[in-house]
Amino acid sequence: MNQFISSRGHQQPVSGAEAILHGLAPDGGLYCPTVWPTLSPDSIGKLLPMSYAERSAYLISLFLSDVSYEELLSYTREAYATFDNANPAPLRKLSDSITLLDLWHGPTAAFKDVALQLLPFLLTASVKTLGEQRNVCILAATSGDTGKAALEGFKNRDGCAVFVFYPQGGVSQVQQLQMTTQEGRNVGVCAIEGNFDNAQTGVKDIFADAMVAKKLDDAGWMLSSANSINLGRLLPQIAYYVSAYCDLITEGTITYGQPLDVTVPTGNFGNILAAYYAKQMGLPLGRLVCASNRNDVLTRFLQTGVYDIRRELHLTSSPSMDILVSSNFERALFHLSGGDAALVATLMTSLSKDGYYSASQSLKATFDEAFIGDSCDDATVSKTISDIWSATKTLIDPHTAVAVHVAQKHLTKSPMLVVSTASPFKFVESVSDSLGVTAPTLTALEEFTELRAPACLQALETREVRFQDCISIPSMPQKVLQFLNLT
Ligand SMILES: *Cc1c(COP(=O)(O)O)cnc(C)c1O
Repeated sequence: MNQFISSRGHQQPVSGAEAILHGLAPDGGLYCPTVWPTLSPDSIGKLLPMSYAERSAYLISLFLSDVSYEELLSYTREAYATFDNANPAPLRKLSDSITLLDLWHGPTAAFKDVALQLLPFLLTASVKTLGEQRNVCILAATSGDTGKAALEGFKNRDGCAVFVFYPQGGVSQVQQLQMTTQEGRNVGVCAIEGNFDNAQTGVKDIFADAMVAKKLDDAGWMLSSANSINLGRLLPQIAYYVSAYCDLITEGTITYGQPLDVTVPTGNFGNILAAYYAKQMGLPLGRLVCASNRNDVLTRFLQTGVYDIRRELHLTSSPSMDILVSSNFERALFHLSGGDAALVATLMTSLSKDGYYSASQSLKATFDEAFIGDSCDDATVSKTISDIWSATKTLIDPHTAVAVHVAQKHLTKSPMLVVSTASPFKFVESVSDSLGVTAPTLTALEEFTELRAPACLQALETREVRFQDCISIPSMPQKVLQFLNLT
């Protein structure tokens, strides 16, 4: 039976249900699997003829012993029926060596839907398994895409509410409108005066606030997280790497056992961590390339062994990657240090106290084997979008462009999979600017490219704005209590 252990301490391992319901371990650590389920050549053979929903249910069932494959399959079928494509994770050839993995066919047009359409099912199943009686309030801080995806995933679900904080001015116009016009009876959205790291810290502080916890508990509520540190976000993401590998076999691009390199546009390190998990399970992945924008803390760590956040956070054209503290990186530290929780706890304390930590030479060497890091600035992103468009008539968003540029620099003889994380129509201003389209509107971009934007992004400006508040960081706990009518 698989169990999960905190990346920071030696407490008792917990079940998957507990890890999913609580999000964070009591010592502030992240729940990590204690064993890797194995993906043998036989299991890949079994997965080849399956649908995406079946592959996903199979892979998640290897980690979660509380839920059966059949039950998971009913969840994955329902979750991925909300996508506008029969395969929620289709491949698209970009060049002889590069294939895109398009993960933005869900209801919010970004890859976070793959996990966040499924998370409500996993969470509800966990509540049932554990006999939890309270209602669950999901709190999320968002740099743009998580918030909307969480709202869509949890809207109108019984026993759940969802509240999202986003940094004022730190998300694209489309992203902001997507959130402020959100429908549903159990949802709330609010801007904060600060950047994404402030929002994320503010949410963490609410989780640690005893007064808030008591008020909620008295009223029959508990808090849970939909941020990418939740195990229930990570597991669904493993499936698309395995599924892509299967599809590449089926289409004849690779044969089983051939290494597949992967480049991932990275923010909180959740997406690329899922690739690492798939590789640990035995999926024949080659190099894992971590692509960052100008906020290149991860690139510098992978080059120097020093994780240093004593610097400014820059707002870039790829806002979902504007992050200094990549929360899921803690899991990588745990696994690559051979499960040295005491070391991880020390490094995390240094990070919050001193703003940096240094890896030992041996830990750095393990990272060198596991990951490659590189980054690019906004001008390069813009040029990449325009070059790719001219050469192939493929339109990519700024996040994907970061990854495509970095992937092109790190090609080997192996085929390269580049994870495409958002629809370009989600970032109309910067994509239009890159292509020289003077009026940055969705319609103008559609006309120029002769492509159709996803239906979920059409006519956003005409929808009713329901959430307009912008508050200071210290007011965040009060805002949540108000939302739940507990003041
Ligand atoms: C969230 C996000 C990312 C970063 O993913 P992580 O799992 O946080 O590393 C990249 N691109 C887009 C479009 C996103 O929404």
